[in-house]
Amino acid sequence: MTSANTNLLYQPVNSLTGIGMQSAEKLKRLGISRVQDLLFHLPLRYEDRTRVYPIGSLHSEMSVLICGTIEFTEVTHGSRPTLVCRLSDETGAINLRFFHFNPRQQSQLAPGTVLSCFGEIRYSYMGLEIAHPEYQILSSPEHCQTETHLTPVYPLTEGLHQSTLRKAIQQTLTFCLKHPEFLIDWLPSKILARFNYPDLITALLAIHTPNEQFTTEIFLAGDLPALQRLAFEELIAHFLSLRSVKLTSNSKFAPPLLAHQPSIDKFLSGLPFTLTNAQQRVIQEISDDCAKAKPMLRLIQGDVGSGKTVVAAYAALLAINTGYQVAVMAPTELLAEQHLRNFQIWFKDSGIRIHYLSGQIKGKIRLEALDALADGSAQIIVGTHALFQESVSFKQLGLIIIDEQHRFGVHQRMALRNKGQQAGIWPHQLIMTATPIPRTLAMLQYSDLDISIINELPPGRIPIQTSVISAERRQEVIERIQHWIEQGRQVYWVCTLIEESEILQCEAAEKTAAMLTAALPNTRVGLIHGRLKSADKDAVMQGFIQHDLDLLVATTVIEVGVDVPNANLMIIENPERLGLSQLHQLRGRIGRGSSASYCLLMYQTPLSNASKQRLSILRESQDGFLIAEKDLQLRGPGEIMGTRQTGQMQFRIANIVRDTQLLEQVKESAELMLSETPEAISPIIKRWIGESTNYSEV
Ligand code: ADP
Ligand code: MG
Repeated sequence: MTSANTNLLYQPVNSLTGIGMQSAEKLKRLGISRVQDLLFHLPLRYEDRTRVYPIGSLHSEMSVLICGTIEFTEVTHGSRPTLVCRLSDETGAINLRFFHFNPRQQSQLAPGTVLSCFGEIRYSYMGLEIAHPEYQILSSPEHCQTETHLTPVYPLTEGLHQSTLRKAIQQTLTFCLKHPEFLIDWLPSKILARFNYPDLITALLAIHTPNEQFTTEIFLAGDLPALQRLAFEELIAHFLSLRSVKLTSNSKFAPPLLAHQPSIDKFLSGLPFTLTNAQQRVIQEISDDCAKAKPMLRLIQGDVGSGKTVVAAYAALLAINTGYQVAVMAPTELLAEQHLRNFQIWFKDSGIRIHYLSGQIKGKIRLEALDALADGSAQIIVGTHALFQESVSFKQLGLIIIDEQHRFGVHQRMALRNKGQQAGIWPHQLIMTATPIPRTLAMLQYSDLDISIINELPPGRIPIQTSVISAERRQEVIERIQHWIEQGRQVYWVCTLIEESEILQCEAAEKTAAMLTAALPNTRVGLIHGRLKSADKDAVMQGFIQHDLDLLVATTVIEVGVDVPNANLMIIENPERLGLSQLHQLRGRIGRGSSASYCLLMYQTPLSNASKQRLSILRESQDGFLIAEKDLQLRGPGEIMGTRQTGQMQFRIANIVRDTQLLEQVKESAELMLSETPEAISPIIKRWIGESTNYSEV
């Protein structure tokens, strides 16, 4: 055991009595490696062993402590031998049932024996019973022991016992009470006072050893000050860790990128449209950032079709004008090719040399691209992840542009920056996402980034008409598709399934494609789903873009932004199964051309009123931000795109839906800590996020 002057809390869990290497391995699976981590492993629920229930008062589904005398014990021989004991007190009797038992147990549980039992009451054909209760043999009913507080039930992992975990946590709490100097409360008392939060040890005791008034319901409701305080601290730790990434980045040197007015003018006048006010505002924000000698870290959030690409092209021009290279990275080959085409068109007469690199580019062409990057003759390189592989080196990279950011987490963002860094010169970074996330969430999740918002669509877009219709009208819908395709237009049909199973999703899409092929004989039907190889996926998409296909049946893989302006009708099956933001993203594939477009949300009957109400939000709005806010209110953020897909926010205690109202205060309080208690920053990050992350090593 540890001596009194070392802090047990920072030691590995096997420093505790009763925890060996084996248990330590298992605890690791629960994210517990240091003793301190045990304190933040919260119960799932509580059991009440604080009082003994009269047997006559029991009903099924209660989990309670009872005490009585065994009337008789017998082994019944049904499909397998079962030991049944009848236990009674003055108020009634109940059966205890053991499917696994040994002879010793059988003789122990002899008539006349006094027992206390804990377990879940069930109703069976023989009346109330408890299967495999925890029991204790007593010398008399008066000796029945009750607990002074509720018993926490912790999440476990295979092979780990509840009692092992309980003892370890109690041991840790005892240590903290004995050595309060080791459990430092890093939240300033000013903050605790302002929000009326308990101090750390009080909060932990309230949760691990709650008093009698406490119930599982109170705990699960989530508004318990003790719980809120811990969630709050955790959110602060995450906010601070991202913020420290930003602060570190601010201390690096980046080349100031300055506009060369004649080439900017030429670029703008060559565009087939004028920029929207929102685009101009964001361009100004980017120009201001890039003119500074520290790396820009900016996220552009803009709805699908809001015109982010041209803004990125403008940023690229700043870098090129200043003599630096630009890397443009997209998550798929198709999107990368789309960017390449756009850049080639927009920079057609500028003499700017644009290259392309992806996993598919091999051999001589690949070598040429690599050479051009290394010797600086390539000014823009467009591509996929392949851009940041070992073999790629840049002459002088000044700007990294990443599209569809929700695929990348904070670590990938940092890895890219590291990769682009050369001789103490750090590239600027511009990230584009079409996934609007609610402002409060963005504040937390992107606190390492500055955010620009394009909140305006280019003029002349005809709003998508969205209707919510029953699947019973499928035949009508098919006739409409027929008519649509006869007019030379294209259609998306999106299959969704709630099951995680990709196999089932793909099967459903295959069936639908077969059904539609049969129902629409003169129609060229394509099928795209997640189990296709990426080259095959690209080939199908390419076929659709070139209008070799009229109808594309797809699973939700088409989410990401490929432009097919001629496809103006989309049917989404079972929309009730998806989040609003995801539906909005899917719908964003249409409405990109100059004619009216339609989205049919084809639900399964019966549809609950709540779902109807939810879907009607899509009918009424095309504002991704508004939809995301509503989605957050109506569902959980785990389902909001952006949180689920980055996977970068993993919490022990906080729950973004439950705790949204905390987020505003989190930012404020974190800023306060940055200025007033900077010594607390690093320990609080270590407490919650651990040492393993390289957040601060940008
Ligand atoms: P997203 O923000 O979804 O990436 P894109 O950059 O692909 O959107 O732009 C969508 C379409 O709108 C493209 O065809 C693009 O050329 C066009 N576009 C962009 N800005 C404007 C504008 N100001 N006026 C008209 N069309 C525009
Ligand atoms: Mg885009």
